[in-house]
Amino acid sequence: MVTRAGTGSFQAQNSKWIWSLSISPNLHHSPVAFASLPSCAMTPGRRKRLIIIGAGFAGINLAQKLKGAPLDIILVDSHNYHLFQPLLYQVATAALSPADIAYPIRRIFRRQKNVQVVLGTVDRIDLEHHQVCGGDVCVDFDYLAVCVGATHSYFGKENVWRNLAPGLKNLDDATEIRRRVLLAFEEAELEQDEASRRAKLTFVVVGGGPTGVEMAGALREIAAKDIQKDFRNIDTATSRIILLEGDKRLLAQLDPSLSERAKRDLEAMGVEVRLNARVTDLDEAGVWVGGEHLAAQNVIWAAGVAAPKLLTTLGAPLDRSGRVLVNADLSVPNHPNVFVLGDAANAKSAPEGKPVPGLAPAAIQMGKYVGKIIRSDLGGASPDSRRPFHYRDKGVLATIGTRRAVADIRGWRFGGVFAWLMWSLIHITFLIGFRNRLFVMAGWIYDYFTHNREARLITGTFKMRVRDPRGAPREEAQPVQHV
Ligand SMILES: Cc1cc2nc3c(=O)[nH]c(=O)nc-3n(C[C@H](O)[C@H](O)[C@H](O)COP(=O)(O)OP(=O)(O)OC[C@H]3O[C@@H](n4cnc5c(N)ncnc54)[C@H](O)[C@@H]3O)c2cc1C
Repeated sequence: MVTRAGTGSFQAQNSKWIWSLSISPNLHHSPVAFASLPSCAMTPGRRKRLIIIGAGFAGINLAQKLKGAPLDIILVDSHNYHLFQPLLYQVATAALSPADIAYPIRRIFRRQKNVQVVLGTVDRIDLEHHQVCGGDVCVDFDYLAVCVGATHSYFGKENVWRNLAPGLKNLDDATEIRRRVLLAFEEAELEQDEASRRAKLTFVVVGGGPTGVEMAGALREIAAKDIQKDFRNIDTATSRIILLEGDKRLLAQLDPSLSERAKRDLEAMGVEVRLNARVTDLDEAGVWVGGEHLAAQNVIWAAGVAAPKLLTTLGAPLDRSGRVLVNADLSVPNHPNVFVLGDAANAKSAPEGKPVPGLAPAAIQMGKYVGKIIRSDLGGASPDSRRPFHYRDKGVLATIGTRRAVADIRGWRFGGVFAWLMWSLIHITFLIGFRNRLFVMAGWIYDYFTHNREARLITGTFKMRVRDPRGAPREEAQPVQHV
């Protein structure tokens, strides 16, 4: 069967799907268009088809677990790379380049013949008709795995706050934050007005979870150590890094002793940590915490997490952050062939029923678990025979800065250099691709001895917002540079 998809179409030929017309120019400009997904209905006697939406930790591990299985797998992602999110903050703070923490999805599955990788965005799921759709193109499935991760929550103020305080979830976010942070130092170097210069050198991180702690620590290291000697008019070490946490402690998922240790470490580095400090508003000039206004040109959002809107189209029960409340086998209620994995799922670990955390190891384990289930199903096992998902918690680590981290490994709690070395080693091990491991490790060793952040690139179009050097008032100031 041939179905039109945009200006091109797909054809079934020897059970392979062939792009039969030229790709429209629009698709070149919009690489995440779902129209690039093979559009087809099922034909009798063909192999079963699994569609995996999302090539993050869950999606990749699920597909890999099914290597050699008698099943056609279509792996759809809006990006052409798998992203190692735990090191995103290092791209945002110019320690690593984007390519160091991303790996082409096609390359991962080069040798796995039952996987077809598709660059596209799914915008709805039709469980009644067993289809996933993007635009007006729909594709049938026998099995579906929704592995779309999580996104930011701005507590209902997305439209305004997102632009004022970027969050950190993907490479675009990371390079945007990098641009804003590096630009702030450049502007401060030229700024004549003291109050304005102070605001440029003030960075507020909202949210004291692992990402907020990492970001605050890294920003302090850039300002105090890495770039200080590169500027002539400003002392970047006088920058204020403020970490705001609405709760009474940082790293709420760890033991209170480690939260306290993280706070002490950050303060020793020069970060201002404010607990019980809830952001009530944001504006162009900074952050409001109750009645107090903190003048800051750069605000980074590391507070709320929400599930992608796509999940609402499942019609399944959702929790408050929009994650799907899945069954014990990670399937969607009443749909034993549809699974939600990773950060998108609100899952409980058997037998205790403890909530499964939104962490990479949990997503990896879920991917492998569902892979096993689908293999058994293909072998004729009934859904009733499935064992519930059990999360093996191997411990949690959070880094704070160079030679500083905290760790909770099965009740063994510690911090300092050893935790930091362990954190570094684990992150290198989990990176995909030998080149990435090598480059990241070499980069870290080099930076450790030289305090250099070589990925200090301000990319894209930008305007310098500084008072005219001749002293013109701010309203009349012109951009002094426009690239
Ligand atoms: C900044 C940051 C730091 C972190 N640090 C750590 C850490 O130190 N340790 C740790 O264990 N965990 C950490 N995490 C959490 C960890 O990265 C996640 O738990 C993990 O990535 C979840 O995996 P996933 O497969 O569910 O989703 P993701 O890895 O987020 O993958 C989701 C994929 O789905 C794709 N997608 C989304 N929507 C669509 C759609 N509609 N159509 C097609 N494709 C779509 C996305 O492009 C993406 O590739 C961190 C997360 C962040 C953001």
